[in-house]
Amino acid sequence: MKTIGLIGGMSWESSAVYYDLINKKVREKLGGFHSCKNIMVTVDFAEIEKLQHLDDWETLDKMMVTSAKQLEAAGADIVVLCTNTMHLCSPAIIENISIPFLHIAEATGLEIVKKGLKKVALLGTKFTMEKDFYKKYILDNFGVEVIIPADDNREQIHTIIYNELVQGKIKNESRKIYKQIIGKLEQQGAEGIILGCTEIPLLISGKDVNIPIFDTTTIHAEKAVEWALKQ
Ligand code: GLU
Repeated sequence: MKTIGLIGGMSWESSAVYYDLINKKVREKLGGFHSCKNIMVTVDFAEIEKLQHLDDWETLDKMMVTSAKQLEAAGADIVVLCTNTMHLCSPAIIENISIPFLHIAEATGLEIVKKGLKKVALLGTKFTMEKDFYKKYILDNFGVEVIIPADDNREQIHTIIYNELVQGKIKNESRKIYKQIIGKLEQQGAEGIILGCTEIPLLISGKDVNIPIFDTTTIHAEKAVEWALKQ
């Protein structure tokens, strides 16, 4: 088994889920006393969130590169960045490490293609929904069209992520809002919904939605284990 390197803390609410999932997956695959070899570098999300909202992606690039290099120096065989949004920094990370980087949109795109879908909707932070790095990755690499919610709905989704989900607050009213927005996206022809923020699966699951959901946290964590066990 290879050692998975995780960059966590964005937020720790979802990093804890990653840790749980990778260990459960290894137990399921290997049984007995097996658990997942991994190293996690975890940052202070207050620093990250401030820089995100200042749009200071240059400093964020540097911080993510530092974390990835720490993992490489500590003996990780692959880098897994436990957040969708911070994949904005993935080009800088990839350029500065010599071990593989498991892109969350790559892992997710593979699952969408497996289901044969051609048009999906993306929920996430405004950075993920509005900037090009995620939608374009899925379109360019998998030929799948990615639509996003309307302006006011993007604002609601973003605010719930930052004011509630990353702080461990799970509210029924917010689940209702997400479900309404998902309903609108279905009407616009979405055949599946990417839960493109690693905390959204804390609020929304398959039973809340009529069409397939793509839980990026689970997909990413499971792909990491598959890779670690295949090598
Ligand atoms: N974990 C979230 C994501 O997957 C949001 C927090 C962050 O900005 O990193 O995008």
